[in-house]
Amino acid sequence: MAGSHRTASGQATHEAGSRRATHGAEAGRGRRFGTHVSEGSRRMLALRRARRVAAGVVAAIALVALVLAGVNMASDGVLARRVVGAWASVGGAGVGAGVGAGNATAETDAADQTSHAVLKRGTVPAVDPGDIVIGVNGSETTIVLRGETYVEGGAHAIEPSDGVLTDRIEISGAPDTSTPGDYPVRYTVRDSHGHVASATRTVRVVDSMDTQQGGLPVLMYHYVYDPANPPDTLNSNYIAAPALEEQLRYLTEHGFYHPSWPEVRAFVEGTHSLPARSVVLTFDDGEPGFFSVGGPLLAKYRVPATSFVIANDGGAPQRMKDYASPYLEYESHSYDMHRAGGTVGHGGRISAMTRQEIVDDLNRSKSVTGSLQAFAYPFGDVTADAQGAMDDAGVLVAFTTQYGWAEVGGDPTKLPRVRVQGDGSLDQFVASIQ
Ligand SMILES: [Zn+2]
Repeated sequence: MAGSHRTASGQATHEAGSRRATHGAEAGRGRRFGTHVSEGSRRMLALRRARRVAAGVVAAIALVALVLAGVNMASDGVLARRVVGAWASVGGAGVGAGVGAGNATAETDAADQTSHAVLKRGTVPAVDPGDIVIGVNGSETTIVLRGETYVEGGAHAIEPSDGVLTDRIEISGAPDTSTPGDYPVRYTVRDSHGHVASATRTVRVVDSMDTQQGGLPVLMYHYVYDPANPPDTLNSNYIAAPALEEQLRYLTEHGFYHPSWPEVRAFVEGTHSLPARSVVLTFDDGEPGFFSVGGPLLAKYRVPATSFVIANDGGAPQRMKDYASPYLEYESHSYDMHRAGGTVGHGGRISAMTRQEIVDDLNRSKSVTGSLQAFAYPFGDVTADAQGAMDDAGVLVAFTTQYGWAEVGGDPTKLPRVRVQGDGSLDQFVASIQ
């Protein structure tokens, strides 16, 4: 499908909507994952803890030498906090310098004045992100046509012991979409150990661009496997790592843009332009091979994707943490609706549930994924009650398994996707997205 060239002056109707971009900020309420920690992950956590304590020892020695501050190494979290506290109070050092604008903590406030000379010594990291993984949703550079509204895509964050931290992310930055240029939007999150991590989105306001016309391909994948270790039963839901890599390389080399879910919603509503060559990648079911084989490929090519997680899958919370990535956003594939029990479509139980029951299930899944920006109907089954539930729960875009592009003017509670055949050729893939 061809894009057309648009200039900002032609966007009066788009601007008129003055739609506020608040969806991305409505991150979910995170649930602690302490009860889901497996034996293996316990060992991993212990290792990380040991590493952190060791790093703390080095920092503490430097501190003692400099300021004769005593540090209690009873626990890593306490240690980190006290190192920071002592540094700030005694040395006046700039622990906040790396935190970024708009989210200064008590420590950073106290620290700002005399930070620079001390920071140059590099004895203590300005900010310790600990084991937090944070990333922006969608492309790291967000393209906005001058005069249109910046649609906040949000970010995602997770930490091994705290679990999903997405609901604690603070957003700062105010792009001026009336003036072309690059504007940073900073996402900052603090975990229960006092670690602070941040990610930055560049919002690029452009005077003109070729825009995506008519619709947007939202790709639907399922499972990824290593051809050296294929699954027992292969079907077209499985894509081999080299084939996926070929596709990701194609998207990267051809400059494809990956809008966030709030941008997709605004696009479907007809209030927001996307750059030509926009595409979204989704992977259903949160399958182990997707995480272990596909996850690293997404990171290698820096292509953001959404994993639609079955939230009551016992292994899901641990996999979400083990394979956390700045390029992987977790969204809901339901909590407990990915099973039989209904009469519509493929017989998923969603068609036997009331609107309120579906809302309750969605909210429960949100406590695991940390976000409800997007939803994938299990087996693609959808009813009017289910669509109503999406609105009630604040889901921005919900997807079936029906084949097609998400069209402008389409129903955000019932959007089609482009199924990627695992055994298809690159040519077929390319044809399906343009
Ligand atoms: Zn599924």
